[in-house]
Amino acid sequence: AKVNGRKQTQFYDASMSRDLARKREIEAELRAAILKDELSIFFQPIVDLKTGRIRTFEALVRWFHPEKGELRPDEFIPVAEDSGLIVTLGNWITAQAAKAAAQWPEEVTLAVNLSPLQIKAPGASLGVLNALREAQLPPERLELEVTESLFLDDSEATELFINELAAKGVRFAMDDFGTGYSSLGYINKYPFSKIKVDRSFVSGPDVSKKTEAIIRAVAEMGAQLDMDIVAEGLEKIEQVKAVREAGCTLGQGYYFSRAVPDYLAAMLLAQERES
Ligand code: C2E
Ligand code: CA
Ligand code: CA
Ligand code: CA
Repeated sequence: AKVNGRKQTQFYDASMSRDLARKREIEAELRAAILKDELSIFFQPIVDLKTGRIRTFEALVRWFHPEKGELRPDEFIPVAEDSGLIVTLGNWITAQAAKAAAQWPEEVTLAVNLSPLQIKAPGASLGVLNALREAQLPPERLELEVTESLFLDDSEATELFINELAAKGVRFAMDDFGTGYSSLGYINKYPFSKIKVDRSFVSGPDVSKKTEAIIRAVAEMGAQLDMDIVAEGLEKIEQVKAVREAGCTLGQGYYFSRAVPDYLAAMLLAQERES
């Protein structure tokens, strides 16, 4: 058995060395990709379920590789985390996204995903504040999405990061809620303004009675605590109706729109304001 850098112990086999080779390759190319402009930020709308208007765009990174085609973040973010590149990459993403957001109407906010490793790196809050300053985006218009895994070790670095940025007006969203271990303690401890109910709760042929009861309970908590509850992964009108009925305030998913390039995001906003 071999310890693979982080937590788990795995048995070594041929498929692992292939995975490792691909990882190494991606790692080397990723460093160059940032400089070569192969990465770009796409934006997916998060919609007010009452009015149908766009309240937020979530920044989602894309890598258009000259040979491998479009690579999904699920494939290269973990590589960036393993190699430490995530700090540079993460700061670049926040800076690019903030520049785009500075062009939107001021009531539209920007959501950016942050890796736990990025948050725990020294000077992490500076990276965010620099991006805001350079883009001249007010901190209130930025929302940072973090997952439950950030709290696996509830470190001092995490606490400092969240408290420092929250004091400046930056907002926080708990992403993929319901997939990890219980995070109610962290919702109690930290100033989250939004909970994103994981896509797994609405996927499947329809929203079951059981799932609906869970979403309803989370939505009720959200209402009590003055937090927005977002349903992720909405693909069908039935799902939109079910989550709205269950009390979710915001929705996101292919039913409304996929993630789109910045110029299309700007067009969607312009269209809304004409009608
Ligand atoms: P996430 O933060 O949970 O983002 C939502 C993912 O679900 C996105 O995949 C989005 O394209 C996809 N999605 C949205 N609506 C639907 C839908 O209706 N149906 C289905 N099947 N999928 C939907 P994407 O862009 O491939 O990103 C995957 C994950 O990679 C993200 O999950 C996030 O954890 C991570 N990620 C993406 N961009 C960044 C980034 O800039 N920084 C960091 N640290 N992580 C990122
Ligand atoms: Ca997210
Ligand atoms: Ca999510
Ligand atoms: Ca996710």
